Amino acid sequence: MRTINYSAMRSVGARVFIAIFLLSLLSSQAFCVETQSQPFFVRVLVAQDRTYLPITVKDKYAIRLLPSLKVVRIGQAMARERLVPTPKGFRLGSQEWEASGIVIEPKKDRDLYLDSSRFRGIALIYKQPNGLLYAVNRLSIEHYLYGVLHHEVAPWWPMEALKAQAIAARTYAFYQAQVSKANDYDVKSSTSSQVYGGSTTERYRTKKAVDHTAGQILTYQGKAFPAYFHATCAGITAAAKELWNIDLPPISGGTKCNYCRISPHYYWQAMVPLSVIEAKLKENGRPVGQIIKIEPVSRTPSNRVGSLKITGTAQEAVIAAKDFRIWVGGDLMKSTDFAVTIKEDLAEFHGKGWGHGVGLCQWGALGQALLGKSCKDILNFYYPQSTIRNIDIT
Ligand SMILES: [Zn+2]
Repeated sequence: MRTINYSAMRSVGARVFIAIFLLSLLSSQAFCVETQSQPFFVRVLVAQDRTYLPITVKDKYAIRLLPSLKVVRIGQAMARERLVPTPKGFRLGSQEWEASGIVIEPKKDRDLYLDSSRFRGIALIYKQPNGLLYAVNRLSIEHYLYGVLHHEVAPWWPMEALKAQAIAARTYAFYQAQVSKANDYDVKSSTSSQVYGGSTTERYRTKKAVDHTAGQILTYQGKAFPAYFHATCAGITAAAKELWNIDLPPISGGTKCNYCRISPHYYWQAMVPLSVIEAKLKENGRPVGQIIKIEPVSRTPSNRVGSLKITGTAQEAVIAAKDFRIWVGGDLMKSTDFAVTIKEDLAEFHGKGWGHGVGLCQWGALGQALLGKSCKDILNFYYPQSTIRNIDIT
């Protein structure tokens, strides 16, 4: 059984875990946020580097301290009170508490607002080593997916494409929750994990896709794997090992995909001032002086650029294209499948696809659904040798 595991608790021992377990049993009677049963929870980093955090709760709520879980306030409603870090702990309104973190538990789901964003579940708020605040939203994996899907795919896409995305996103989150147990959170709310906008951004059809596939994840040899996905592969998917230190058959790439030809991101171009690239190289510890030449010097197995040689007035540097793309900006340089020429003071990139290219190609999934393929067909195509299984979500 997955207990209430606020365990965000890198530095807290087993004794506290037991205390949390016991208190969680009490809390599920006193403050049943979700259901009486134990759903699978995900912890999402939703704010960081904050000097303060405005908190609103529309109805009854409780505030607990970490790590003790002692209830220090029970209120009827909270109207945009500012939570501020103090040397001792945290201050909210006129109250100050000494604690390693605080938990905001609304009595009803969807009653919690951090800034102006609305959330299901509860919030755990901690201090960073530099004294600023970060906030983690803990909620059931299904409710988390309600807030993810609309950001990853358009709600009007065919249901089979939405269902494939729901299963891939659930698998990714489930895997992250398995490997992040020692951390304060499982996933971020940005593209470095999968985009999550809280419950403000839920849409009817994407919620339906989550409900239709409730509890379903992809597995390989009985285990969840990181089911990466991206917008448009533009011809062939990449292997996870081209980017990260992981290699499993479902994410080993090489799947030829013509279904994403309908994607508006199939081709892209970007004009980047050389001065911007020079600054980015310097910022990341690889200065070359003024850039004279940029040339791809290796290719990955999926024929994306592996590394670039950048020749400058001071020196030359060979840089992994995946790093170069992130340094310059992943939305500007949409992929590592590109050619580059220098024209006066600009680098002109002509490329194909959007994203890292690993796993499910979202626009390819759309193309396949439009041709009548099922969610299962789509997932088998992009994650070969994987099997759909059910996790216990209730
Ligand atoms: Zn594709």
